[in-house]
Amino acid sequence: MTIDFRSDTFTRPTPGMMQAMANATTGDDVFGEDPSVNRLEAMMADYFGKEAALYCPSGTMSNQIAIKVHTQPGDEVICSSLAHVYIYEGGGIAFNAGAQVRAIEGERGMITAAQVAAAINPDDVHKAATSLVCLENTSNRGGGCCYDLDEIARIKTVCQENNLKLHLDGARLFNAMVAGGQNPKSYGQLFDSISVCLNKGMGCPMGSVLLGSAAFIKAARRIRKKLGGGLRQAGFMAATGIYAMENHIVRLAEDHFHAKQIAKILLEKSFVGHMLPVETNILIFDIVEGWNPRFFTDYLKKFEVLVMPISDTQVRMVTHLDVTHEMIEKTCEIIAGME
Ligand SMILES: *Cc1c(COP(=O)(O)O)cnc(C)c1O
Repeated sequence: MTIDFRSDTFTRPTPGMMQAMANATTGDDVFGEDPSVNRLEAMMADYFGKEAALYCPSGTMSNQIAIKVHTQPGDEVICSSLAHVYIYEGGGIAFNAGAQVRAIEGERGMITAAQVAAAINPDDVHKAATSLVCLENTSNRGGGCCYDLDEIARIKTVCQENNLKLHLDGARLFNAMVAGGQNPKSYGQLFDSISVCLNKGMGCPMGSVLLGSAAFIKAARRIRKKLGGGLRQAGFMAATGIYAMENHIVRLAEDHFHAKQIAKILLEKSFVGHMLPVETNILIFDIVEGWNPRFFTDYLKKFEVLVMPISDTQVRMVTHLDVTHEMIEKTCEIIAGME
C-alpha cells in the first residue's frame, strides 16, 4: 500500500465522486450550454459573493487568464519571489500577458502592504506601469502558511489608492479558510479576482474556478478560448467540483491535523532541522546531520512512503484525502524508527 505525500494532486476520485460524474448532465460549454458547468460556476460565485465565475482546466490557466485580463503588455506585476505565478508557471506572465514581475522578498511567500506600497513604480516614462498585485493563500513554497486577513485589507487599500488590481492565487484557499475559520465572502470582497483549485485538496481529477465581476469574467472567457481552454462536455468534470464543494471542504481539517501529527514525530528526530510552521496540509523541513533529502526520501520509499525533495536541503510532505488516519499512524511509526 503506497502512502503518497508528494502532493495533494495525487488524490483519486472517491466512489461518491465517480457516481457524481456518471450521473452528470452535460452539454457544450463553449456554447454555454453545459448545465453542470453552469451550476458549478453559479455555486462558486455565490459562495464567494462574486458576480460571476469561469471553470478552467487548471489553476495555472485561471491565474494566467486573470493576469492577462488585468494588465497591458509592458506592465509590472507585484508578487512574492516565491509566488507560483512567478516561479512555477513556465514564464507564463511574460508569455501570455507580455508583462514583467517585480518580485518581493516576503516572509514565507507572503508580502506586506508596506512592501507593496514601496514597490509601486512612479508615473515616469522610464518605468513599467504597475497595474496588478498577486497574493497566494495558502502559500505553497511558504509551507502552506496563511495570510492575516487584516494585512490583505491593508494591501487592498494600497491597491485602491494606486489604481491597482488585486488577484488571489487561491489554489489552496479552502485550506486557509478552514484553518482560519474564515468566511469565503471576506475574500470575495477583498479581491478583484480569485482563482481556486479543485484538483488539490478538494480531490477532483482536474479543474479550477476563476471568480470576479461579470465584466471581468466576460473578458476572461475570451482569453480562455484563445488559450484553448474552452471545453465541450466539461460537465462530467464540473460535477466532481460540485461534489467536492458539498463533501470535501470541512474534512480538510483532518488533513491539517494529520500534518501536525507527522510534524510532531519529525521534530523529535536529530536529522530534522528547521521546519516551517505547519498551519495547513503542507510540511517543509530541512534534513541535516549526515542525512540529506535524497537519503531520507529513498529510505521511506522502501516502505512505500513517498515524499518529495524540493531543494538540496528541504523535503516537502503534503497530506490529503487519500492519506488515511491509519496511513498517518504507519508513517509516524516508520519515522519514529529512523536513526
Ligand atoms: C498547484 C498550484 C497552482 C496551479 O495549479 P495547476 O492546476 O496544477 O495548474 C497555482 N498556484 C499554486 C499556489 C499551486 O500550488
